[in-house]
Amino acid sequence: MSEYSIPFNKPYMTGRELKHIAEAHENGRLAGDGPFTQLCHQWLEERGNCHKALLTHSCTAALEMSALLLNIEPGDEIIMPSYTFVSTANAFVLRGGVPVFVDIREDTLNLNEDLIEAAISSKTIAIVAVHYAGVACEMDKIMAIAKRHRLKVVEDAAQGMMASYKGKALGSIGELGVFSFHETKNIISGEGGALLINEPSLTSRAEIIREKGTDRGSFFRGEVDKYTWCEQGSSFLPGELIAAFLWAQLEEANQITQSRLKLWQYYHDSLEDAESKGIIRRPVIPDGCVHNAHMYYVLLSPEIERNELLLDFKRNDIQAVFHYVPLHSSPAGSHYGKVSGKLSQTESLSERIVRLPLWLGMSESQQEKVVELLSNS
Ligand SMILES: *Cc1c(COP(=O)(O)O)cnc(C)c1O
Repeated sequence: MSEYSIPFNKPYMTGRELKHIAEAHENGRLAGDGPFTQLCHQWLEERGNCHKALLTHSCTAALEMSALLLNIEPGDEIIMPSYTFVSTANAFVLRGGVPVFVDIREDTLNLNEDLIEAAISSKTIAIVAVHYAGVACEMDKIMAIAKRHRLKVVEDAAQGMMASYKGKALGSIGELGVFSFHETKNIISGEGGALLINEPSLTSRAEIIREKGTDRGSFFRGEVDKYTWCEQGSSFLPGELIAAFLWAQLEEANQITQSRLKLWQYYHDSLEDAESKGIIRRPVIPDGCVHNAHMYYVLLSPEIERNELLLDFKRNDIQAVFHYVPLHSSPAGSHYGKVSGKLSQTESLSERIVRLPLWLGMSESQQEKVVELLSNS
């Protein structure tokens, strides 16, 4: 358990997780792709409006599957922000791909769509659009650029479950999308993820790649009379206990999102003053984007010492954190990746960001404590 009276995150559980796990235990069907996995797949396909959803054991695994599906070969370039989680880049680097880092937008901290074309070369294969904080990238422009240059788009919607762009669910817009169910995300299964396939021609290979490179999926559906090794793959699927846990969360996904949005809005309203005094800048949600309250962050005015502020939070028994160390400035990122243009927003914003505690069950007085501390800094 956290040592803080107001920790940064507390995983929310609906109360039905153990009941579903007991049922899976009772069924005696524990490997992947059992009844609970099927329920999750159906839900994700209907609610996520994608052609095919496949549970994976993490979002990292879903990204690795994407790199295999796009046939990434050594030297191939993939355009992405430097301001993201390591797995966005690492999944492609495992196949010899070269991440090409592009700067982010000042308002949403998402990939700056106006800088993408300058980063395209004859080796470019794909663009990874990371929907930071569950706020959508400018997908119309990104999809148009991809079409013009015949590139694939992977949506890293690890944080984007239940959020949308112009009415379209995040993860349903590019050829591929990925979700994370890590315990720090909105909908959780401890570790877990999903690959969303919107380009139907990629579906059968995705099933093969996820099942150790075999056509075991078709075999179980009775489409072939034996199964065999067809191509490169690995074991990317979770067992049924994880799917049973996840099913309890999906059943409550609407309520979870609504409750998070209330907490988010409380911060947003309460911090309006601090913003007008120039202490912080609040998150910006562009028109057409419906977010999911994945996180509440603030950008500190350059005069505020972030380390001092975080220590102040700590002294008040509140855990606030920051991320990411931009990938281009990390040891592996600078070795395997390339930078396109200047990453000035990435560098400046990543040094000014602070993420505030936000979890279901947080009380108004706890939120008020956070707001007061920030407003008096
Ligand atoms: C959390 C996260 C991931 C990784 O998810 P895992 O399920 O932990 O593998 C990838 N990309 C982004 C943007 C994330 O926030």
